[in-house]
Amino acid sequence: MNDEIKHLFQVAKQDGFTVVNAQIRWMDVQPDQSYMATETTYIADGNYRSLNFSNSKTIQTGFGQEHSFSQSLAYVKFDFNCFSQGKLAGAKIRVFVTEAMAQGHSIKLYGIEDDSWDASTLTWENASNNQGYAISEAHEVTKSPSYDLVKDVFYYDFNVTEFINSYCLGDKKASFILQSETSNPQDGQTIQIDGADGAHPPQLILSIDQVYDWDYLDKVIGWAEDAGLKLEILWFGTDTCSLSIDNRVPYYVFHQYQKALTDKADGRQLLEDIPFFRKNKDPMYGVYHHLMCKNDPSLRERESTVVKAMFDHIADYNVKHGYQNTVIGCQVSNEPAVSLLHGGRRVNSRGELVLYCQCDNCMEALSAAGNDLQTYYEETMWRYNNSIATAVKESRYSVWARVNNFHVPDATGVHLNEIKRSTTGTNIDFIGLDVYSDVPKTLFTYGHAPITYIDPLHPGKVPNYAVGNNLVMNMENGGSGIHKERHGDDGHSIGTPKYANLDRLLLASLAGGGFLNVYDLCSPDELGLYENTEDHIPMPINPDAVDRLRKTQLMLNKLAHDLATKQADGAGGTMLKFFNPISDLEKSSVTKSFRKSIRSLEVMYTTKDNGVGIAVERGEKEIALVSTTASDFRLQELARHGVFSITQGFYNADNRWIGSGIADYEIIGDDVIVHMPAYGCVQVLTTTLIPAVDTYLYEAEGLPYDFSGKAKNEIGEEGGHGGHWLKISSMSEGMFGVNDFITFTVHVPSNASKYEIVTGYRSAVANGTVQLSIDGEEYGSSVDMYTTIPAFKQASAGIVSFSHSGEKKFKYTVIGKNAMSTDYQLGFDYIELIPVID
Ligand SMILES: [Zn+2]
Repeated sequence: MNDEIKHLFQVAKQDGFTVVNAQIRWMDVQPDQSYMATETTYIADGNYRSLNFSNSKTIQTGFGQEHSFSQSLAYVKFDFNCFSQGKLAGAKIRVFVTEAMAQGHSIKLYGIEDDSWDASTLTWENASNNQGYAISEAHEVTKSPSYDLVKDVFYYDFNVTEFINSYCLGDKKASFILQSETSNPQDGQTIQIDGADGAHPPQLILSIDQVYDWDYLDKVIGWAEDAGLKLEILWFGTDTCSLSIDNRVPYYVFHQYQKALTDKADGRQLLEDIPFFRKNKDPMYGVYHHLMCKNDPSLRERESTVVKAMFDHIADYNVKHGYQNTVIGCQVSNEPAVSLLHGGRRVNSRGELVLYCQCDNCMEALSAAGNDLQTYYEETMWRYNNSIATAVKESRYSVWARVNNFHVPDATGVHLNEIKRSTTGTNIDFIGLDVYSDVPKTLFTYGHAPITYIDPLHPGKVPNYAVGNNLVMNMENGGSGIHKERHGDDGHSIGTPKYANLDRLLLASLAGGGFLNVYDLCSPDELGLYENTEDHIPMPINPDAVDRLRKTQLMLNKLAHDLATKQADGAGGTMLKFFNPISDLEKSSVTKSFRKSIRSLEVMYTTKDNGVGIAVERGEKEIALVSTTASDFRLQELARHGVFSITQGFYNADNRWIGSGIADYEIIGDDVIVHMPAYGCVQVLTTTLIPAVDTYLYEAEGLPYDFSGKAKNEIGEEGGHGGHWLKISSMSEGMFGVNDFITFTVHVPSNASKYEIVTGYRSAVANGTVQLSIDGEEYGSSVDMYTTIPAFKQASAGIVSFSHSGEKKFKYTVIGKNAMSTDYQLGFDYIELIPVID
């Protein structure tokens, strides 16, 4: 297992990845300790009262009302002599029931202080703690809770914390009697449990809260360092995938803190609290699934204490290992939820849907939220995530702290976190989404606008993640593999490769202003780029896809500094321009050309094989170019500014050009044509400066935007400036109309104080009429976007004076529609700002 991760990190490095994420479970830094039973047996009445059953692989307990011979009691002994810590914060025993029961049975657990009993000689007759079926001189420890009665062939846990702490820490031995509480009218159904020699022997699990084990964490950091990668810690604590899982979280957390409750005990009809709960049979994901309550202040404090200790330890590690600053961030929770147990809501004991935890703290939180359920969800989630993020920030190793969401959690937190950021402050740096789409347009749009069409089951439910200062990250999007069922955006066919266009998805993400994290490199989730052979050698599941991804990433690394520091033009930026980024994998033999400008130069990218190009304005005399295929960049009239050099190479980690010879280019007239090698990088230097741009044209589909109503946004293909346009239409009839609006965020440059504002739009038969306002003030006359035959048109809103530069809200409000029009749809092509010099 360890060697596999180490090896996979090396593979990731070779494939051009720069950062790896690794889970650090709470259990990794505070591991529970498990002890198998040293002795087990059972005793039985009637004909068996003098018999010893210590050779039996199973032990049993049952109470036959009619026949004394069907009465039996099970004995279990543990020796935890190697346990060296002091008082326990939690202890439980886990037994495995080997036969299914016709009905739920309750097991009562007794602790006996005298451990001198000998399994090899114990009988009903000579045992000292049984008075008939009753137990004496023993401590009643616990019994099966009503929601976890013994029925299935599976594990059952019993809390023994108090008994161990009170009676067993001296000799480090613990003995228990298991007694079936359920009388059995049919006489015969006894509970069968694996004994010490069974396939799943009883275990004693001890849990401590003040001691840490950094061994695994240190190894993971070391493997990343060996591979030359940065590492993000995925904190797998209280909530991972809207579950608190018993193989990720130490037992003491379940024992000491508040579980989210479907029912609160009332002392009359309901005698015990009933938690959000289910059991799981896939050993990867533990046995007991709960959801801990996010409003328990003691739990938040404890988890924060552990996370701060972890990052303090990372600070010490960093000093000891030469300040490599390998750890660069922390995901504080993975796909969390307030009141959804993974996969859906819970019902209570009366079969009613439970919308929130029933504990006292939650009742208080709900009341503090004015009994508004959504406010309670959002505030609860934010407090929980922010408390862990604060621990990261207050440690001696402060790095970014972020959250990632699944599609429809009960609280997304994005909007609330931006409100906190601009008011009282937040320690959650950003919140991302597991998008899981293989449509380049979807990932392009995700970086700067809502993605309304991502989830057919929940249309319009995914909020806009590109708000405020939220960095838009797509945390999980699939590696590669084969579809086993139909699902996703397009209802993929069974047997078709998953995410075969990973390279395209990465380029589309970056072009739209978002960041893509590949989930995952290798795992049993069937989403990995690799699968392990029996010899533990990672093999690519789709070698062609992995090969293209590797080449693309190695190409992008040649421009790493610019990609990390400049806003892509697909999100309103002006210095980092992508050509053909939302095309999909299909090979096209048609020659395609795309024009964009770098400063005042027109740059034309021509590709015969559907390549993707990037051009970067690095300075007044410097342009960088990359292309995924052998394609041409034509830099029009560049020669007028003097060609100083055009070389191949890459920008290194310090953002310095490392040239490896003259690039392939020709000069025709004043135009310079650079013949790009596939996956190559070229630097163009001029002798005199390239004049600044004289007009600012923003593609509508590549500006940050948001809209009201239940509308959907789509990127239109058939023409328009730059080859694409943006369509806004009602999700279903009548859901987008008068007073609905779309707001673009436009960066007004500081070059001039006055600009003529031109809107490029696409008219059509179902379009509405809009009025433009900028930061709340109306400009120009209304624009009727209706025509019988679709056409690209433009409308000037006149000359607008801006008192200062920076981000402005360009809002187009639907004020009505042409009498002939069938709906209120809108089509936007671009927004142009033409400087007006007085
Ligand atoms: Zn609660």
